[in-house]
Amino acid sequence: MGEFELIRRFFATAPCAQGGEGVALGIGDDCALLELPPGEQLAVSTDTLVAGSHFPLQHDPFLLGQRALAVSTSDLAAMGATPIGFTLALTLPDADETWLRRFADGLQRMAAQCRMTLLGGDTTRGPLTLGMTVFGRVPKGLALTRAGARPGDLLCVGGSLGDGAGALPLVLGERPADGEAAEYLLARYWQPQPQLALGQALRGRATAALDISDGLLADCGHIAQASGVALCIERARLPLSAALHERLPADEALRCALSGGDDYRLAFTLPASERAALQTEFPEMAVIGRVEAGEGVHLYDEQGRELALAARGYQHFG
Ligand code: ADP
Ligand code: MG
Repeated sequence: MGEFELIRRFFATAPCAQGGEGVALGIGDDCALLELPPGEQLAVSTDTLVAGSHFPLQHDPFLLGQRALAVSTSDLAAMGATPIGFTLALTLPDADETWLRRFADGLQRMAAQCRMTLLGGDTTRGPLTLGMTVFGRVPKGLALTRAGARPGDLLCVGGSLGDGAGALPLVLGERPADGEAAEYLLARYWQPQPQLALGQALRGRATAALDISDGLLADCGHIAQASGVALCIERARLPLSAALHERLPADEALRCALSGGDDYRLAFTLPASERAALQTEFPEMAVIGRVEAGEGVHLYDEQGRELALAARGYQHFG
């Protein structure tokens, strides 16, 4: 199977590659062509996933296809963008048809779920690496950036924290992965759901937002820095899933929620007046603290005492 046959069989003929809203030309030419409605801006983000670093060498390619696209699409959710499509730069050690079929099927599943069109890509030989670029659209001036948080705003997250990090030992086979709690955690790792509806609902309401990929503390640090404010987190308000509680001792669960990566929940700052309506629409959302004048991220215990922060989020070259 040559390069072009591979592209045709597994990608160009996939249902998700047959065009969609905003796609004037898809796979097959030198470029794809996108159409933006008047008054909207293009949101673009790239992610690279390297086997052995971002996902285990031993993996189910179906789950990998789902996860790779979900992780990239989460950046669109974080900006409040509506998905258009994505490109796929695929580096493969060999053209393993069984692997490719399952990978393409997983990709298709998440693409359909997120209404993303596969727009094009590149196929090369080398150590297994996935490069994803995602494209979305957002009304001019309404994209959610990391700057804009104001003292007095509430600090919120889109759902439970720490599940991705809590799942890692199960993903790596270091702990037994049987039972309902394990199943839930593994699903949170392999099939994170980009919070697209929440992101779009936050347009014109949230003052700053991002998706948590490197851990709550590290990512909140980005909002604090970009907005020139302090973010104050109350430990007792961190939403931890029942599964995380069940599988891990309390201190380890807390560490996952604060410093673990791979959650892909949105973190955002919100004027208090917006809270009630949003909470009704998104019951999983949780207020975890507030924005104050100052700088950095601060964590407080149940008695309002500030706790020292040691572990920060994950950093390559860190
Ligand atoms: P070029 O040489 O002009 O860069 P290629 O021969 O690499 O184009 O690719 C041919 C077409 O197939 C292009 O439209 C490209 O976007 C698409 N393509 C290549 N690899 C992939 C892939 N892994 N997934 C989806 N589309 C792909
Ligand atoms: Mg070309």
